[in-house]
Amino acid sequence: MRFSQVLIPTLKETPAEAEVISHKLMLRAGLIRKLSSGIYNWLPLGLRVLRKVERIVRQEMDRAGAQELLMPAVQPGDLWRESGRWEHYGRELLRFKDRHDHDYCLAPTHEEVITDLVRREVRSYRDLPLNLYQIQTKFRDEIRPRFGVMRAREFLMKDAYSFDVDEETSAESYRIMQKAYRAAFQRLALKFSVVEADSGSIGGSFSHEFMVLAETGEDAIASCESCDYAANLEKAEVPAPQGQTPGPAQEKAQVATPGAHTVEEVARFLKVAPAAVAKTLIYLADGQPVAAMVRGDREANEIKLKNLTGAAELVLAAPSAIQEITGGPVGFSGPVGLAIPIYADQELYYSGALVVGANQADAHLSGVHLERDVPQAKRADLRQAAPGDPCPRCGGGLAFARGIEVGHTFRLGTKYSQALGAAYLDAEGQSKPIVMGCYGIGVSRIVAAAIEQGNDADGIIFPMPIAPVSVAVLPLDVEGQAMETAQAIYEDLWAAGVDALLDDRDLRPGVKFKDSDLLGVPFKVVIGKKGLKEGKAEFKRRAGGQTEMLDLKEAAALVAKMAKEAGAQSL
Ligand code: ATP
Ligand code: MG
Repeated sequence: MRFSQVLIPTLKETPAEAEVISHKLMLRAGLIRKLSSGIYNWLPLGLRVLRKVERIVRQEMDRAGAQELLMPAVQPGDLWRESGRWEHYGRELLRFKDRHDHDYCLAPTHEEVITDLVRREVRSYRDLPLNLYQIQTKFRDEIRPRFGVMRAREFLMKDAYSFDVDEETSAESYRIMQKAYRAAFQRLALKFSVVEADSGSIGGSFSHEFMVLAETGEDAIASCESCDYAANLEKAEVPAPQGQTPGPAQEKAQVATPGAHTVEEVARFLKVAPAAVAKTLIYLADGQPVAAMVRGDREANEIKLKNLTGAAELVLAAPSAIQEITGGPVGFSGPVGLAIPIYADQELYYSGALVVGANQADAHLSGVHLERDVPQAKRADLRQAAPGDPCPRCGGGLAFARGIEVGHTFRLGTKYSQALGAAYLDAEGQSKPIVMGCYGIGVSRIVAAAIEQGNDADGIIFPMPIAPVSVAVLPLDVEGQAMETAQAIYEDLWAAGVDALLDDRDLRPGVKFKDSDLLGVPFKVVIGKKGLKEGKAEFKRRAGGQTEMLDLKEAAALVAKMAKEAGAQSL
């Protein structure tokens, strides 16, 4: 590849629309261009990165015994009705009609189609286990597409689906996929963490997310400093405090709190700690009002609440609904006398006397003892884990970090096989539902995640295995011996199976260095007049370190060897 012939529209200025570094750098390096909100063109060098990520993922899936197929992006609505998701998927599912007025959608995921295929083609236990995967374009009409290809509407995903005779063999298929994922992310040279994830209404701790650690990640992770427990904050369990809960400390009494809406205002006004105030939040769970209580200095965990209520949809009630449900305005809700289901965080039971809203303007109740005054409340783990909490497994300290979800593994059980009637005949001729698992990797998101982890003031620092090219060959003169020597090295690199970019543009050396750094090319070989006189080429790594002088005769072979040792792939 010659720089002068490839479409590499690098930009000097940072585009205003980009918020995170990976998005900025992908635009500046000319890897992607936006077509529409959340919809991107992949330019030649960007596509090379994407293809390299895809190849590693494919190789690890193949190695694990999964079989590649390709399913359609356009799917009939009727199949989605069978699984119940036509109604339940929500607005991320882009629906439309064909010329015959039949319903269709753009696939956000492929459980329906793969289960349909398997119910037709698999008959007997002898056909199982089976693991089928594809690397294919998904469409999700995300409410807030952002960060470029990180949260796009159209994106590339690897999705695999396992089919087994029972839970035990399904667990083994799950284990094999986890191992394949670890191998893939290691080869991609990413710093990652595997965390327990919420598995929604299906239950069990059978869902794991693979997180690339980055400060800009949308997900928060809690991990134990002593054992290997790690969980998405959505899922991180908070153990109940130790010891006996205290008995009532005071009589409950109404106190005036004029204008004090927030926990801080109420605490300041009543001269108590925020921890002695309980927040009562009113939600609608599938349209039915419920109350959730957490200590004033804590955050409610809506995923935990949603799972407790079993609701498909949970939303905070609007102020008008709060007024109707509690009889009081926002900021003054409380559990006493509230005739709706109440969930109270377990920690509140250790507070003795609490301040809660009185369900009327400018009033609170003090001295509230939950067991005495709100006996109907359901005691549960309802809050977000926070610094200082013990690990739910070993009691050790928890550390908090942020991550980008690049993979998700999930045991589905028989949810889809039962809905769609995917069954097999066992050795006794009995019909049984097939037990499934599903496993996603965000192939295009990985490109952005890798850049979030690898960058500096000069641009991208790609890990060798996924760099658009492994080596940049920079002649400082585009005529005469420098160019001829550079070209020879460039050709030798390709012949040795290492992809290289020859910067044949008649530009100042500084510009060439800058572009190569911006693009994140891991190795640079520089051919200049001074080196030529001594029979040497300059060799430099993007990630830092000393410039080395290589003998011209051996330069190509040496650089090729080092690139391959660093995991270089050539497309
Ligand atoms: P998220 O919580 O980030 O929305 P998800 O749980 O909806 O992810 P899955 O349905 O598990 O995602 O999809 C599998 C993988 O596809 C995710 O782990 C992620 O890497 C990737 N992915 C999901 N949504 C997007 C998106 N909008 N843009 C790019 N990649 C995505
Ligand atoms: Mg999502």
